[in-house]
Amino acid sequence: MPRTDIGPPKYSEMLPPVIKKNYGRWKYHEIPRPGVLKHVSESGDVLYSIRVGSPRLLSIDFLREICDLADKYSGGYLRFTSRHNVEFLVSEEDNVESLLAELEQRGLPVGGTGNSISNIVHTQGWVHCHTPATDASGIVKVVMDDLYEHFTHMDLPAKLRIALACCINMCGAVHCSDIAIVGVHRKPPKIDHDLFPKVSEIPTVVASCPTGAIKPVPKLKSVEVNEERCMYCGNCYTMSAAMQIIDPKTDGVAIFVGGKVSNARSGPMFSRLAIPYLPNNPPRWPEVAEAVRNLVQVWAKHARKGERMGEWINRIGWERFFKLTGIPFTEKHIDDFNYAMPTFRTTVNFKW
Ligand code: SF4
Ligand code: SF4
Repeated sequence: MPRTDIGPPKYSEMLPPVIKKNYGRWKYHEIPRPGVLKHVSESGDVLYSIRVGSPRLLSIDFLREICDLADKYSGGYLRFTSRHNVEFLVSEEDNVESLLAELEQRGLPVGGTGNSISNIVHTQGWVHCHTPATDASGIVKVVMDDLYEHFTHMDLPAKLRIALACCINMCGAVHCSDIAIVGVHRKPPKIDHDLFPKVSEIPTVVASCPTGAIKPVPKLKSVEVNEERCMYCGNCYTMSAAMQIIDPKTDGVAIFVGGKVSNARSGPMFSRLAIPYLPNNPPRWPEVAEAVRNLVQVWAKHARKGERMGEWINRIGWERFFKLTGIPFTEKHIDDFNYAMPTFRTTVNFKW
């Protein structure tokens, strides 16, 4: 079949020979040490995945470095996990120790398997996106520096997945992570009525609002926002540069807890609000780092073995969660957005 540039190549073309040979016939895996997974097939063949934390935003130099390592030790085969870990797929047992030694010498951290924190998945932040309420890579670097020992040691009650999204559009996996750091705007967009007609289409802007808060003002060739309906999502700013949502004075970070994707023991869970607001305090965001560390420490101290954060909270109850963590329970924790039903039915996004 001719190759096209549409879509990724078929995954089976990328598999290491040992996986192709034993496809569907892998018997079990074990974790001989943090960051090293040993997969054993029915035929007795063995494959090691060696997991390394990546800096998430990757330079060409870093990509070349890991590709060179893969050429040297894993037949050129490596993969990326959905949480931005790099995994070298090593089929030669003799290469495992040499690769680990070289990774250590280069300062690349090995870990993230079993009952540990995996690399943190995050969105684009101030580096690239237009609507962020906070930075992504900057905060993640700080939080990961702070929790580094839980990446390299499997000393937690269960897996710990942390994610960051720099606005509530949530490009990251924040709704289904144990701890979610979410950038929040806290004011409605400021409309520049002079600029609006030059850079916007009224119907597109009106249609972009998930709560139906925007209506046209034909006299001004612009729009207005019903501020009571606005949930500060910034979707309208995506459609029009005249609807500025970013406000350095009031933007900040909220922390959600208790989400998970896995089906093990209990079904997948959505994360819920724990801390409504922490200030943006770059470059090291001390308030955010401290809040995340507190959550991890309290959970690690009180959870049973194998209990994810959401499962632990469900067992002890939210009241006790707030007591143990020392997080104040405020009116912000009460979901009083009572426009959901009417807005779902009236906005132009939902018609039936
Ligand atoms: S979460 Fe929001 S601000 Fe961050 S990259 Fe996605 S859309 Fe942009
Ligand atoms: S799109 Fe979002 S930010 Fe803009 S008016 Fe609607 S709710 Fe508010």
